[in-house]
Amino acid sequence: MSLLLSTDPHLLAHDPGHATRQIHPERPERLAAVIERLEQAALPDTSWRRAHAPASRAVLERLHSSAHVDRVLAAAGRTVQLDPDTGTSPASVDAALRAVGATIDAVEAVVGGEVERAFVLARPPGHHAERDRAMGFCLFSNLALGIEHARRALGIERVLVVDWDVHHGNGTQSLFYERDDVLVIDSHEHPQYPGTGAVDEVGRAQGAGHTLNLPLPRGTGDGDALALYSAVLPAVADRFRPQLVAVAAGFDAHVDDPLGGLSLTTAGFASLCALVRDVADRHAQGRMLMTLEGGYDLSALADSVLACARVLAAPTIEPALPGGAASREAAGLLAAVRARHGERWRIPTLDPTDGRGARSRTA
Ligand SMILES: [Zn+2]
Repeated sequence: MSLLLSTDPHLLAHDPGHATRQIHPERPERLAAVIERLEQAALPDTSWRRAHAPASRAVLERLHSSAHVDRVLAAAGRTVQLDPDTGTSPASVDAALRAVGATIDAVEAVVGGEVERAFVLARPPGHHAERDRAMGFCLFSNLALGIEHARRALGIERVLVVDWDVHHGNGTQSLFYERDDVLVIDSHEHPQYPGTGAVDEVGRAQGAGHTLNLPLPRGTGDGDALALYSAVLPAVADRFRPQLVAVAAGFDAHVDDPLGGLSLTTAGFASLCALVRDVADRHAQGRMLMTLEGGYDLSALADSVLACARVLAAPTIEPALPGGAASREAAGLLAAVRARHGERWRIPTLDPTDGRGARSRTA
C-alpha cells in the first residue's frame, strides 16, 4: 500500500472556541472538510485508519516536561484557556492525546513497511507546542513526538523535517535545536506569528547547522517557494541522508487563507509535496510522514490536502521543476542562508535573471 490516511472521529470534538463562545479559526469543520474531500476522491492504493488509542504519558514525556503534561491532562473534561490562542473544550484533551496516538501509529506503519507514506489528518495541530507550554492552537508537538518514537523505538537514526506552514514551527525547532539527528527546514511568512524563525537561528551545540529557516516576505508565491526548496532540499538531503522524511503540512500559506499572507496555490502545494517525496524516495526508501498543521480556508485546505494526497498515493512521480524565475528577494534570502550555513550543505545559489531557478554552483 502506498498511502495511509489516519484520522479519528474523536478529533472532531475538540472546540478551542468553547470558552469564548466565538468561532475559532481552528474549528472542527476544517478536518470534516478534508475527510469529506478525500473520501469523495477515493484515491487508489490508499488505506484509512480511523481509530487510535490516546498516547501514553511516557510517549509525551519523551519531549514534553512533566509539568506541561500535568497541566494539559488537568484540562480533561474542562474548558481551560492554556494560552491566549489555545483553549480547550471538555473533549479537547482526549483529542490531543489521540492526535499524538495517530501520529505514533502512522510512523510505525511507515517504518514497519506496512505503507510507504502516511498523512495524519489530525487536530489540534502540533508544531507550536514547546517542551513546557501549549501555544498557537497546539497542545502537544504531534509530529515531533512521532519523530522521537521513530528515533527511540523504531531504529531510525536521521530524520529530515520540512515545515511549510505559514507560521514558523517554533515548537518543532526548539525541541530538536541542540540535536544533529533531526534536521529541520522551515519556510514561513515573516513577519508573522510567533515571531521566531530568523535565518540566523541555525541550531546550537551538537545541533549547529541542523536548523534552516526560510523566512518569506508577505506575498511570496509558488515560484519563489519552489525555487528555494529546489535549491535547499536536495542539497541538504544529499549530505544529511535522512532515513525518514517528516512534513509539518500546514496549508495556511495558501493564497486564499484568511490568516496567512503568502500566495501559494493548490498546484504549488502539490509541486512542493512532489519535491519532498522525491527526496524521501531517493534517500529514505520512500518513508514519509505528514501531519496536518494549519489551513483555515475550508476549500483551499481540502483541495490542497487532496492534491498532496494524490502525490503521496501515486506509484511514481516526476517532481516539477520551478517554472518561473526566482525573484531578487528569494535569491537574496538564499544567499543569507548560504552565508549562515557555509559549505556544510553545499546549497547552490539562485540566479534571479536566468529563469531556471536553482543552479548547481556551490562556490
Ligand atoms: Zn499555521
